[in-house]
Amino acid sequence: MGLLLMKIQGNSYRDSSGIEISFSEGIIDSISETQSSIDKDLFLGPGFTDIQVNGYGGIDYNEIQSDPMNLAGISRLLYQEGVTTHFPTIITNDPGQISKLIHQIVSLRKGDELSRMSIEGLHIEGPFISPVDGPRGAHPKEFVRAPDWSLVQKWQNESKGLIKMITLSPEWENANSFIERCVDYGILVSIGHTNATHQQILDAVSAGARLSTHLGNGMHPILARHPNYLWSQLSQDLLGASIIADGFHLPAEVIQVFQKVKNEKLLLVSDSVSLAGMPAGDYNLHIGGEVTLTSEGKLHLTSNSSILAGSASNIRNGVSFLVKNKLALLPEAWEMASVRPEKILNPGHKIFEEGAIADLILCRMSENGELQVIKTIKHGREVYSA
Ligand SMILES: [Zn+2]
Repeated sequence: MGLLLMKIQGNSYRDSSGIEISFSEGIIDSISETQSSIDKDLFLGPGFTDIQVNGYGGIDYNEIQSDPMNLAGISRLLYQEGVTTHFPTIITNDPGQISKLIHQIVSLRKGDELSRMSIEGLHIEGPFISPVDGPRGAHPKEFVRAPDWSLVQKWQNESKGLIKMITLSPEWENANSFIERCVDYGILVSIGHTNATHQQILDAVSAGARLSTHLGNGMHPILARHPNYLWSQLSQDLLGASIIADGFHLPAEVIQVFQKVKNEKLLLVSDSVSLAGMPAGDYNLHIGGEVTLTSEGKLHLTSNSSILAGSASNIRNGVSFLVKNKLALLPEAWEMASVRPEKILNPGHKIFEEGAIADLILCRMSENGELQVIKTIKHGREVYSA
């Protein structure tokens, strides 16, 4: 068998120096300086990792499909956006329904190599969240319940060990023993959709919770000045935080404060719903009813433009949003969508260095700060070229 060696050149996303990366059999062999002339707006860096994807391009991981292969489009569309790894996110539902949704992702990975390469884990968001209106967000109240380890074990068996992350609220009495078990089994516990007290949040961190899910969203619209669960989560250095940076979910000044507090533990997620990546227009959703997607990418109830109906964004949009609005320089924004989620999910993994998996993207930065994906390489294989 011949050795397949490939090379790619671009300006490093870190410091804009011209680099050449060689890789073989899916692994980076070397990253070296190059003297060749490279367009100054072409940047090379690690592929994006999105740990919260409910759906994309009109396809929904939270709906039972007539054929699981209907879901295969999501990985392909995300490769076009520079996402080399994503975590399908299954939200609060009937436990049996969650099993079925897990099964169809297992079948998808079995039958479709491009999906199998992109889907490195599952994120279960709920049903162990707050039942309270506001923190619960759009999750159906009837299926919200206390943490149940036997259910997670069942789902984990059904998923063949694919569950890597659970978002829960520590306001339930048995939350701490549940969190400890998750941690023992290598599942990242993230706090979200919560109405927990300060002490409950401290206890959850002691038990091993290490992230806050879409911090600043899934909250009461009006909150007591203090104490409240936002200050509590901000105060804990062990907790990283994910944010939705689409221009609609969080005002810029909130992102600025989160950056100052969470530093290199602040990361991007898209939290995209199925209408992400679709043309602007009015839609009738299976869950959610009449919604409108604007040309700016805001998804809201048709009857009330101030009520968001989920995120129609992708993580590349998030990087562009941060850069365009001068909330972060390119290297930091890029890491918020790649290195940081990878580090929190796979501590100790090499990223964008010799010996790391060759998950790479080549992007062009337009004059207005929009990042456009030119080429996506997953595990050393070209999966998208513009
Ligand atoms: Zn959520």
